[in-house]
Amino acid sequence: MTVARTLNFIDGEFREGRDWFENRNPCDNGVFAMVAEAGEAEVDAAVQAARRALKGPWGKMTVHERAAILHKVADGITRRFEEFLEAECRDTGKPKSLARHIDIPRGAANFKIFADLVKNVPTESFVLDTPDGAGAVNYALRRPKGVIGVICPWNLPLLLMTWKVGPALACGNAVVVKPSEETPTTATLLGEVMNEAGVPPGVYNVVHGFGPGSAGEFLTSHDGVDAVTFTGETRTGAAIMRAGAGRIRPVSLELGGKNPAIVFADADMDKAIEGTMRSAFANCGQVCLGTERVFVQRPLFDEFVARLKAGASGLVVGTPDNAAANMGPLVSREHQSKVLSYYQKARELGAEQVIGGGIPQMPGHLVEGAWIEPTIWTGLGDDSAIMREEIFGPCCHISPFDEEDEVVERANDTDYGLACSIWTENGSRAHRVASRIEAGLVWVNSWFLRDLRTPFGGSKRSGIGREGGVHSLEFYTELSNVCIKL
Ligand code: NAD
Repeated sequence: MTVARTLNFIDGEFREGRDWFENRNPCDNGVFAMVAEAGEAEVDAAVQAARRALKGPWGKMTVHERAAILHKVADGITRRFEEFLEAECRDTGKPKSLARHIDIPRGAANFKIFADLVKNVPTESFVLDTPDGAGAVNYALRRPKGVIGVICPWNLPLLLMTWKVGPALACGNAVVVKPSEETPTTATLLGEVMNEAGVPPGVYNVVHGFGPGSAGEFLTSHDGVDAVTFTGETRTGAAIMRAGAGRIRPVSLELGGKNPAIVFADADMDKAIEGTMRSAFANCGQVCLGTERVFVQRPLFDEFVARLKAGASGLVVGTPDNAAANMGPLVSREHQSKVLSYYQKARELGAEQVIGGGIPQMPGHLVEGAWIEPTIWTGLGDDSAIMREEIFGPCCHISPFDEEDEVVERANDTDYGLACSIWTENGSRAHRVASRIEAGLVWVNSWFLRDLRTPFGGSKRSGIGREGGVHSLEFYTELSNVCIKL
């Protein structure tokens, strides 16, 4: 097999770095590419290129011109859809059937939506009375923040990266992206699309590498970066805040979760099972919004457990090209070890293992892959590690509850506050409970139903700030108030 080379993208050109690291296929752990790791010199070159781009044609473009270019970027992704699909699935191992409907189309949509939004969102204005009777007028102007450092995770690489790059560019910024070391390919491919679409050199840069002592740290501690937007683990978010603290650098943090689902006895069982199947197992459980704690009202408990078990036993584990597969491997052998350590811990804590708990039998060379069984537990207390720590695998624990007040308290009893799903056919209860849940996103009778105009983000240790719709514009621009004395 030929081993490809994945390069940094700096100032409109593909460049090598200070070293090389391996990109492995999670399906068989085989090395399929060598990735150029950016050192301090490459990160500095990327930041300087971005700064220059702000002063060049990009900085002088009208909003409409910028928006037109971003539409071309979206069209470029769509035109090269199969290449992006192939690359994303090779990096992550996820089923093509999933990425075809979510990752790649959303990657393109993120450019169109924010290009259109930025043309249409007004800023505020106020008329002020003054003692001389003539008055004054205030209005706010949006200016780009400057160079944005974009640090991305591996679970939805293109989707989550463009979720930040789309609005950042729409607002007139330049970006330096540090994709996850696990999934560097689609961000690199996007560099080609940027050039084809006529995005000026330096506006979009990609530097590859790791966190500490590598491109991630070099970027987040670089003086030329005006703001950092990050998606990833809570612990990494804290390191990124620390890196920017001395410079009072704004950060937007989309972090981890330990999300509950609450199934009331009056829920539509079919819908609740279908939604929880997706929220626990989609993308092999590697979704920040995924459900790892399920609370089911006691009258439904046994039936719910039996039906979720039946659903999980019907999941087909397989490679991206396997059309029957709806679950791929975890992203890496390292992550597999982490998830398996929780499977082991659940056993030690005395959980009842309803299904799963191990590694599925895979044929031939696939035996080397990061495969994992979908797993369901019951019987643990709310204080156990399984109920408190983010596992980020295809697993959930199901607990019974009796009263509404009780379940609200238990659902909120977590360090995190990202998402929650409520399943009930009682509209008053839905509103009442939704208003009491301490999370940035609450779904009623659904999960991952996303309107990109709405605020997205977490409370507590799940993050700082909101992105999405006009909220993204708040982060990616500086508002200046102009006061005119009449
Ligand atoms: P991670 O924090 O390990 O890595 C994310 C990125 O940060 C990678 O690019 C990594 O190289 C970089 N990084 C690591 N240490 C760094 C440092 N010290 N300085 C700068 N950069 C550094 O996260 P992950 O394992 O890639 O992703 C999974 C996590 O992401 C989960 O916790 C999940 O909940 C979270 N996530 C959150 C959201 C959300 O919207 N809230 C979405 C997706 C994933």
